[in-house]
Formats: sequence, structure tokens, C-alpha cells
Amino acid sequence: MIDTKKLIEIDRQNVFHASTHLKQHAHGESPARIITGAKGIYIHDSEGVELLDGFAGLYCVNIGYGRDEMADAIYEQAKQLAYYHTYVGHTNEALVKLSERIIKLAGQGMSKVYYGMSGSDANETQLKLVWYYNNILGRKEKKKVISRDRGYHGSSIAAGSLTGLPVFHAHFDLPLDRIKHTVAPSYYRRPDDSMSEEDFSRYCADELEKMILAEGPDTVAAFIGEPVLGTGGIVPPPAGYWAEIRKVLDKYDILLIADEVVCGFGRIGVDFGSQYYEMKPDLITVAKGLTSAYQPLSGVIVGDKVWQVLETGTDKFGAIGHGYTYSGHPMGAAAGLANLDIIERENLTANARDTGAYLQQRMQGTFADHPLVGEVRGIGLLAALEFSSNRSKREHFDPNLKIGPQISAACLQEGLIARAMPHGDILGFAPPLIITRDQVDDVVARAERAVNKVMDQLVTSGSWQPK
Ligand code: PLP
Repeated sequence: MIDTKKLIEIDRQNVFHASTHLKQHAHGESPARIITGAKGIYIHDSEGVELLDGFAGLYCVNIGYGRDEMADAIYEQAKQLAYYHTYVGHTNEALVKLSERIIKLAGQGMSKVYYGMSGSDANETQLKLVWYYNNILGRKEKKKVISRDRGYHGSSIAAGSLTGLPVFHAHFDLPLDRIKHTVAPSYYRRPDDSMSEEDFSRYCADELEKMILAEGPDTVAAFIGEPVLGTGGIVPPPAGYWAEIRKVLDKYDILLIADEVVCGFGRIGVDFGSQYYEMKPDLITVAKGLTSAYQPLSGVIVGDKVWQVLETGTDKFGAIGHGYTYSGHPMGAAAGLANLDIIERENLTANARDTGAYLQQRMQGTFADHPLVGEVRGIGLLAALEFSSNRSKREHFDPNLKIGPQISAACLQEGLIARAMPHGDILGFAPPLIITRDQVDDVVARAERAVNKVMDQLVTSGSWQPK
């Protein structure tokens, strides 16, 4: 038996947690939880509480928890070859097989995969490749990268700069100068009510073009975007968005990086979001769903156009000056292979499409007319509720009321994990891809009780009235 109190006390004394109020945690002023086990779509804590994980960890445990097959694959690989590096042409069988599969699944003229351990380090690699690419081509000034407000690409120095959420920049001296942010593709937050989705997509592309012209097209190297904007609020793009963006990028010879860390490997009901939205990326970033988080593994998938130039670069400059000790780690590769086997065998991408469509329908049916909800949106097994103090005017709540976190906390009381997204009052859902229709009904029922409970409290306390 775990002594919960004692373990948490030791944790508070020794562990530096991600995205946590450091002082409150260290001084016992904020809650802590010890996760002891998990199976399917449920996790358990040391106090015997069971929670339905409506966010698949951090939208990564796509095949669900507690898969013996994954443990076996990792164990067998550890016994056979736990590690060898991939420098100067060294490789291992699992890595070779995984790479062949990724290239086949990605399609779109993709050529090679470089491996890392996290989405953040993969995006660091992306920037190095983009800069190297332009140096090889003799375009010394073409180095700026445009990302989007509310985009999320990680929290390291370059990836954190690409992220377009103020909390990841403020007080860390970010973003780096070379990284700029254009408008978020949020139709709900469009500047003019009369715009159609297509109008708004053209507006976003025009804003991008204006930024490119203001910076100087010869200084802009790449544009990065998630097919569906994720951590910034789970925002599917408006109709025609990626086609409009692609047109502008082509006009100025700017590379497109599709950050598929969330969408890749089935989450929106297709293998890759970039295929669904016809982004035609030059480079793709993957992580999370590649191993369903059973091992840390990320990848930079390099398209043929960029690869051809990189090859000539090593002719000019010698072996590429980039490498991680754990790039192409055999245990990660074994986990990736076993994970892709499960996704294929159990048709989880199709389940994300079909059960995902059911989730969207249930969310719309339950919340579209809810007095507290401004917008219900999503695609596949990604969904969000954006709360509004005045639905018809699309007004925000006072951030001090912390409506999103309150509703997320109320969900926890209902035994449901739904994530208060870090930007605005938005509640996110991204359950494992194994979820069934009955379990979707359960998620929606628990979420509805939680939203109603917070609404009742707001009304009773006199801090808000339905408008
Ligand atoms: N890119 C996207 C789209 C993400 O959602 C994330 C993490 O949520 C990252 C990159 C960063 O990945 P990591 O946390 O593994 O560094």
C-alpha cells in the first residue's frame, strides 16, 4: 500500500513539476495526486479514485492504457538491444521498419525521418533544418519563421518561441527575434461578423502576406502550423484556410512545416491532418501518437524537396552537425511499431472518424444552445467548448472568474478529466482513440453535469446571469 500523504510530502520537497505554481506546490497549498495505474480509458490514483481520461494524458495515449502488447514489445527490445546510437550510419531493425512505415503512412512526397524524444526537440530540429537549407542555397537572409497566435509547438527555446501563447514567452525573454506570429485561424474570433468562413480564410492569408511583405519575402524561410490548432483552444481551420495559406507560401518560396504532434496517427480520423486539409507540407513534426506515449519518441519527417537540398549540403559542408544521443532509440522504435500495429489491427483511425463524428454530434446536441457555451467545435476525437459570458455577442468572461478551470474542476468531481486549455475559457476533450459510443455518452453526460453545476453556482452567487 502506498502512503499517499508521505509520498506527496516527499514529492513537494523534491520534484519540480511542469506547468505548476511552484510555491503553492512546494508549500502544500495546491492539490497533488499520485497516479498508480491505468487501463483502457481510465486512470486510478492512490486513494482508489477512478477517472475517465477524456484527454488521453496530454492527447497522447491514443491506444489507451495498460496494453500488455506494448509492454512485451518494449521488454523484448530491451533484452535484445536496449540501446545503440544512430550516428554515422548505425541503425537497428525496429528503427528501419518503423521509418519505412512512417514514410508510407505520411505520403505527400515525404522522404526521411529524423528522431527525437519530444515534440519540442523535433521542432528545434525543424528550425535548424530550415536554416541549414537556406544556407546551402546561399540565401543567408531567409531565416525568419512565421507561426500563429495561439499555436502550440513546445516549450523549449525555439519551439517555445514558435508557440503563440503569452504564458510561454513572458519572463523567459521569448520569442526569439527570428520568429513572428500571424493571426490565429479562429473563425469564432473573426474580426467582422459578416465574414463567411471562406472570407475569414482569405483574411488570414492576407494578414500572412502583409507580414511577409513587411518583413521582406527574402527574409522569411518557413511557416509552421498545426493542421487543427490544439493547445491554443482546439480550433479546426475555417473552410479553405490551408489552400489560401499554401498559395501565399508558394508565391514567396516559403517552406511549410505541418506540426502533426497531436493530429498525426489517427486523432482526427485520418492518418495525418495535413492529408485531410491538403496542406502539402514540406516538413512534418510527429510525436505523441507515434508511440501513444509508451516511450518518448518524436520525428521530423523531411519531404523530398528539402531532402535533396540537405544532401547537397553535406557534400559542401561535410556530415550534418546535428545529433541526439537517443535519436532513433531502439526501445522507442519498438514501441512505435507495436503502437502502429495496434492502430492498424483495431482500425483506430476509422474509430476516431466514426466515434469522433458521434462525439461531435453529441457535443453539439448537448451544448450548442447552452447558455454558458459560446461555441462547440472539433473534428474526429478532438472537441472543445468555448464558454462565453454573452453568447450572442461572443463576449469573454472576466479571466479572474477562471470559468474554464472551474468547469474542469467540476468535471473532476464527476470523475472526468477534461482539460482547461491555457488560452481563454475553453474546455478540451481528446479521449483515447479506443473510446466507444457508450463511453462518449458517459463523457458528455458527466461534462453536462459539470457545466450545469458551475452555471448554477454563478447564477446563485449573483456573478452572472444567462443572456
Ligand atoms: N507540437 C504540438 C502541436 C503539441 O501539441 C505539443 C505538445 O503538446 C508539442 C509540439 C510539444 O511536444 P512536447 O511536449 O513533447 O515537447
